[in-house]
Amino acid sequence: MKILCVLYDDPVKGYPPSYARDSVPVIERYPDGQTVPNPERIDFRPGELLGSVSGELGLRRFLEERGHTLVVISDKEGPKSRFEQELPDSDVVISQPFWPAYLTRERIAKAPKLKLAITAGIGSDHVDLKAANDRNITVAEVTFCNSISVAEHVVMMILSLVRNYLPSHDWARRGGWNIADCVERAYDLEGMQVGTVAAGRIGLAVLRRLKPFDVGLHYTDRHRLPSEIEAELGLTYHPDAASMVPHCDIVTINCPLHPETEHLFNETLLAKMKRGTYLVNTARAKICDRDAIVRALESGQLAGYAGDVWFPQPAPKDHPWRAMPHEGMTPHISGTTLSAQARYAAGVREILECWFAGKPIRKEYLITEGGRLAGVGARSYSV
Ligand code: NDP
Repeated sequence: MKILCVLYDDPVKGYPPSYARDSVPVIERYPDGQTVPNPERIDFRPGELLGSVSGELGLRRFLEERGHTLVVISDKEGPKSRFEQELPDSDVVISQPFWPAYLTRERIAKAPKLKLAITAGIGSDHVDLKAANDRNITVAEVTFCNSISVAEHVVMMILSLVRNYLPSHDWARRGGWNIADCVERAYDLEGMQVGTVAAGRIGLAVLRRLKPFDVGLHYTDRHRLPSEIEAELGLTYHPDAASMVPHCDIVTINCPLHPETEHLFNETLLAKMKRGTYLVNTARAKICDRDAIVRALESGQLAGYAGDVWFPQPAPKDHPWRAMPHEGMTPHISGTTLSAQARYAAGVREILECWFAGKPIRKEYLITEGGRLAGVGARSYSV
């Protein structure tokens, strides 16, 4: 079989010869009890850079020993890209949401052998799921692999916006001691009301991590959390985002991108927020209306916006979110720490081991199978 793996470029200075730390903590189970990926073997050292082209997700030896062909590329945009050249005879495509190989209906039509699309990470919205179903392509992702990674990033971004960290850091680097400039937009998080759109793996982990900050916690989701969890965290449930946001000082978006959530945060919803709300979106850029976010920051309706997700990815140099006021954007990195990479590289290997052996892929990894949404996809997505 031909496995086409689309990964982000190596660091500008080349593939790292060494790392800042010698190991990453070993985690055996996720907070809900699900076990971390358990392939028969791994051919990498956890903590290595696996998500860039030279890291190859640690798959080369495994695939070549079994007689498969692994092609690893980063060039993925446009009809002349390596991706379009390699796609027509590929059986399996692997990519990460940080550097998504967009599998549109047109591209799927050009790949008659394609049977499996693996997301090395979480979030398979870069695949046209309806087109995948029409062609009976299995789509799988490594559920939970980086949910905690993202939750930590969300908490970091909330604190950095509310406390005005990034502009203050800039003053320090520039040799300044401009206390008043730093604090004229700085507040305490304590006592604020924080709401999450979706309380799935990431959303719930964000709520748990924020609880000790003595904030009010709110959520909306398609399914309500168990009442014990609501009581333990003191959560207020709202039936939808529109009814939740007027109560919040900070809103964090943690739902997948699918037809129900595309452009949910538009002019109308932003207008329902309190003036000066902070919005943190590490879910998917298209859940927000790009230009409405810029206008809300310029008018002061939003006090800050931070996140790591853009559309398209990579974002063009002139993307307005790179230059809008009071932003705390990063490239799409929250779910690809070295710690997370070790888990999703092992997860991809587990999925491939099952696929080659004709064994079922774990239900919690499945997004589509047999022409319909399946497993976790049937619960959290729509087409
Ligand atoms: P989960 O599937 O655990 O959680 C998603 C939650 O969203 C579910 O509780 C689901 O509801 C809920 N949901 C779906 N549609 C709606 C809706 N219309 N309104 C409210 N809630 C809704 O996924 P994770 O928490 O692990 O990840 C969430 C998303 O975060 C991913 O899909 C991905 O887009 C993004 N992500 C970003 C990363 C990054 O690096 N920035 C890395 C990993 C993920 P229910 O199941 O109850 O129906």
